[in-house]
Amino acid sequence: MNVLMVTSECAPFIKTGGLADVAGALPGALGPLGIDVKTVLPAYPALMPLVARGTEVASFGDLPGGAGRLVEVEAEGVTLLLLDAPQLFDRPGGPYSDPAGKDWDDNHRRFGSLAQAAARISFDGLLGWKPDVVHAHDWQAGLTPVYLKQPGVPVPKTVMTIHNIAFPGRFGGHTRGELGLRGDWFYPGAGYEYHGDVAFLKAGLAFADRITTVSPTYAREILTPKFGMGLEGILQARADVLSGILNGIDTAAWNPAKDKALAQTFDSKTLARKAGNRAALCKQLALDPDHQGPLFCVISRLTEQKGLDALVGAIPHLVAGGGQLAVLGTGAPELEAAFKAAAEEFPGKVGCYIGYDEAFSHLMQGGSDAILIPSRFEPCGLTQLYGLRYGTLPVVARTGGLADTVIDANLAALRAGVGTGFLFEEVSAEGIAGVLDRVFRTYADRDAWQMLQRAAMRQEVGWDTSARAYAALYQEVLSE
Ligand code: ADP
Repeated sequence: MNVLMVTSECAPFIKTGGLADVAGALPGALGPLGIDVKTVLPAYPALMPLVARGTEVASFGDLPGGAGRLVEVEAEGVTLLLLDAPQLFDRPGGPYSDPAGKDWDDNHRRFGSLAQAAARISFDGLLGWKPDVVHAHDWQAGLTPVYLKQPGVPVPKTVMTIHNIAFPGRFGGHTRGELGLRGDWFYPGAGYEYHGDVAFLKAGLAFADRITTVSPTYAREILTPKFGMGLEGILQARADVLSGILNGIDTAAWNPAKDKALAQTFDSKTLARKAGNRAALCKQLALDPDHQGPLFCVISRLTEQKGLDALVGAIPHLVAGGGQLAVLGTGAPELEAAFKAAAEEFPGKVGCYIGYDEAFSHLMQGGSDAILIPSRFEPCGLTQLYGLRYGTLPVVARTGGLADTVIDANLAALRAGVGTGFLFEEVSAEGIAGVLDRVFRTYADRDAWQMLQRAAMRQEVGWDTSARAYAALYQEVLSE
């Protein structure tokens, strides 16, 4: 089976979020299942060295954003089809915004071109290679299923995956001409119109054969107004083709027994060695190294979504209960300021590093006892999966992928030896204080805590199961 992925990010080449991790890891996990994947990705500046050593396999004179060509190259285990259109992608700044953080004015043409290039090769094939399934990710690839819809013409099946529903890819209705979209499909409901605009993600949701998102619970949640962000209507209409498949993690990059970013490697039989990481972490964040209570960490974008404003309100309770807190993150200035202020108010008990530091995030996972993730919504979440693997028990809000990956250590789970963390319902300072009290009580029983750590470390968090689920989905849609 041949699958064409269409994505605007792919780790390790270009990353702003979890989409990149999925696009980077899934092809490698599908390969052993007999699925040959090629990935269409824009040739941003970071990709230009790969363009230079690749082979041109297609060229187009008239994409919505002008001329472009596809250059095939193998890198890091992924077969990339780089869309080389320098007028669209070879510019400073991020994938979606200029160096000052403002969205590019021509994003509709940039990603309309990405989707159209993918659709054209799906019709024409590439040197005999033709996709059976085209798998589009997030709004940037959302027009692909629309371009591929050609009544009366045999076309590949399409799958649309939602990684972040907060970005619908919405542009004025006047752009439909430039984008080469059929005027008679510009209507609400099953068309690509959204309140008078063209919405790329909505288009994908309306036209794809299958829709997935990155956890089963989130797949249910986005059917409601609270989580659907205005797209719940089209999702309800297509609920019969919507499903959730959990993300995995790269278990080689995140392996506590071999992790070079750790001060001390460890496994489930040598949990005491986590202490070496704790000592290094305390040193870096000026935390009291002789403190006896649990050390909690936060590794996160500092945004409203992540519920960290509620955590700030619970810090006095965390400290009073005998905990320490280590924070690694960047984002909203008011949250950055709040964590810095907490570190000043509670010296030795609260420490923070405002910034993005991949290696330090490994040390934080290695040295902490628990990781706090009080998200208001969380499509899948990765840091709780790293926490499980590093015996750093996730303390999470019961939402989205957090609810699907952590087993609450309630009394029954403790007795059965199957708990892997702590879930709580209400994202508020009180809700967090409540779960912290349970954590403190459990932490006081060292045997119970270690049993939870071992159960956490036994969890299957790699890609195997999810890759099989995607393969089954592709099979299912092909057999129709
Ligand atoms: P989201 O994609 O919503 O940001 P995820 O939990 O899915 O949340 O993924 C976040 C990823 O970014 C994880 O790999 C996490 O370790 C990493 N991360 C977030 N903030 C930082 C930071 N300040 N430094 C290093 N890594 C970070």
